[in-house]
Amino acid sequence: MAYDPNNVFAKILRGEIPCKKVYEDEHVLAFHDINPQAPIHVLVIPKGAYVSWDDFSATASDDEIACFVRAAGKIARDLGADKKGYRVLANTGVDGGQEVPHFHLHIFAGRPLGRMVAKA
Ligand code: 5GP
Repeated sequence: MAYDPNNVFAKILRGEIPCKKVYEDEHVLAFHDINPQAPIHVLVIPKGAYVSWDDFSATASDDEIACFVRAAGKIARDLGADKKGYRVLANTGVDGGQEVPHFHLHIFAGRPLGRMVAKA
């Protein structure tokens, strides 16, 4: 799938749509989800134009991938989510339920998070 520069996270990266930022560095931006599914629900996105986890893991540079993983762990710790535990999730493609076609990691925390995957 080609990257759509008009997706909502691209607009957030360009500053065209506001976000409640929790972290930013050279390669990464993180902000609160607009429709939180847990007391803590943060989205972590690369600044590069990657459609999905599949695209990011295959084509991002080692530097981008390392920065992204380090940042996601730091964000969770900075939010205190490591104390009682948390979940990271990357919905990917149609069956994965991905709605926004810019790679993002969800960080959920702040309550028991239940089953790993919804029953069919
Ligand atoms: P996906 O289903 O693609 O993994 O998740 C997309 C997430 O983006 C959803 O949890 C949704 O609430 C969030 N989202 C969609 N539009 C916006 C927005 O404009 N701002 C923020 N902060 N989150 C958004």
